[in-house]
Amino acid sequence: METDANAVHLDAILARNHHSAEYLLQILRDTQAYSGCIGPDAVNHLSRKLRIPRARIESVASFYSFLHLKPHGEYRVLFSDNVTDRMQGSEALMTQMCQQLWLQPGKVSEDGLVSIDTTSCTGMCDQGPAMLVNDRAVTNLTHQRIQEIGQLIRNRTPLADWPAAFFHVEDNIRRSGLLLGHTLLPGEVLRAALSPDSEKIVEAIKSSGLRGRGGAGFPTGLKWEACRNANNGSEHYVVCNADEGEPGTFKDRVLLTRQADLVFEGMTLCALAVGAKKGFLYLRGEYSYLLGPLRAVLQERRESNLLGEKIFGRPGFDFDIEIHLGAGAYICGEESALIESLEGKRGIPRNRPPFPVTHGYLQQPTAIDNVETFCQAAMVIHMGAEKYRAIGTAKSSGSKLISVSGDCPRPGIYEYPFGTAVRDVLQDCGAVNTRAVQISGPSGICVAESEFDRRLGFEDLPTAGAFMVFDDSRDMFEVARNFVHFFAHESCGFCTPCRVGTSILKDTMDKIAAGHGTRFDLNEVEHLDYVLQTTSHCGLGRTACNPVLHTLKHFRPAYESRLKSLDFEPGFDLDGALARARQMTGRDDAGAHLKTEEI
Ligand code: SF4
Repeated sequence: METDANAVHLDAILARNHHSAEYLLQILRDTQAYSGCIGPDAVNHLSRKLRIPRARIESVASFYSFLHLKPHGEYRVLFSDNVTDRMQGSEALMTQMCQQLWLQPGKVSEDGLVSIDTTSCTGMCDQGPAMLVNDRAVTNLTHQRIQEIGQLIRNRTPLADWPAAFFHVEDNIRRSGLLLGHTLLPGEVLRAALSPDSEKIVEAIKSSGLRGRGGAGFPTGLKWEACRNANNGSEHYVVCNADEGEPGTFKDRVLLTRQADLVFEGMTLCALAVGAKKGFLYLRGEYSYLLGPLRAVLQERRESNLLGEKIFGRPGFDFDIEIHLGAGAYICGEESALIESLEGKRGIPRNRPPFPVTHGYLQQPTAIDNVETFCQAAMVIHMGAEKYRAIGTAKSSGSKLISVSGDCPRPGIYEYPFGTAVRDVLQDCGAVNTRAVQISGPSGICVAESEFDRRLGFEDLPTAGAFMVFDDSRDMFEVARNFVHFFAHESCGFCTPCRVGTSILKDTMDKIAAGHGTRFDLNEVEHLDYVLQTTSHCGLGRTACNPVLHTLKHFRPAYESRLKSLDFEPGFDLDGALARARQMTGRDDAGAHLKTEEI
């Protein structure tokens, strides 16, 4: 039953979000923060006020793993389930907490106090194991800390009264370079870009050779130029993709903490270059603790006339930035899915073409880049294209932030010029007896010891930034199994090959792990890869088999030692499945059984 008080709160939430269905995701986040879940009364109210069907609201709410249509406990505990968290003992910690609170994973306690489950990587791999409690990241978990958290939950202690140390997030910057070492003041780059000729921004970015740092490496200058030249819409937009969900990646977390001004400076430069008046920063839900500090930086920039109307007093140069929060959907890191999410929809990748540069946010020309790319763009304008291009390699100019995690004594953020060898990173982070390095997350490349002289860069090892180290005590089969579980969990379900294929892949790896696999299963993974490569709608499906194929190439014995037989062996007992039919017909003679060769 909807009360007046609830209606008043919901109306206030709607007012904060412009009474617009494009803000639906933010409205649903705020609704849940107020009442614990998005209940039927709230759905009815929002549907009526926003004039959209209930089905749309429910379909959006059910898409994002951090949103709930039913109560999920006063305390929602989600253990980060990246492979590095597991290596640091997250499974045992979760078991301990479940036992302490008398609870099964995935269930809500009978008194509605708490639920415990896992979530994909929370971006705290350098200080894991980690968890989220009501969207707040808790790092450096130990058995002692879990014990204390269990007690706080039992006592219904509000999160605001928990020890601040539980929520402390270290930056762990181990090696600074171009971006992390700069001493620029807010507005310094922007002021330089305004004089003598701001038209030259795109030219400078183009001749610097800057490529997007999200992994694909599309030339940034070409993107900005295409967006500037698009004349199909009435508005242009700038979007910063801060939804870094690739397991093992946490560089944007550090840039947004330490270099927020540089991020916003890069976005404002882009706005000047493409003619945008409005920008969005889409922040992953796992980093919601950064929302307050980032909004404070935006406010300071407004007060310094670095945002708002007539920036630096220049007529027509109006630009402002809004922050939108994601809600636990990895696929929203894909740029067109992110734009859908920004429009208040399910984060399902769009058909491309048309590309966002012509048909992005609200079908208007949109320049979308990630956090690091905007910072690099600002540095290009500060240094000049020629100087910038001299850093790195011929096809990969500038520097790259690497998120190092796993088996090494110094995990954290390392900034290198492109062209740095894997071996050099390993040496800097103190890794010894390294068996393999996973570059650029589960969809990236697994590099074995014989390849440690390979170099980071678009010519050899392109990377969005993850660098997970595995020493010789690690079982690379289990690493790959964790990655395929991740893909099956994060597939958005839009296209059948990916939805079914990632599930088959997960089941195949589980079957092999359980000792029921055969060589047939290994061959099937290659067939599955072909199907996913040729029929998937987006990169998630196309790369889902990579972890298995790469580890099979380098560590085949880890697979073969688990196979029940090197020859074909069925994974399903067909004759056994007919037992009920035999029972119903009263037959159990030889003719009612399948012969071995028929099976
Ligand atoms: Fe969604 Fe997977 Fe299809 Fe991508 S490939 S659209 S993640 S189902």
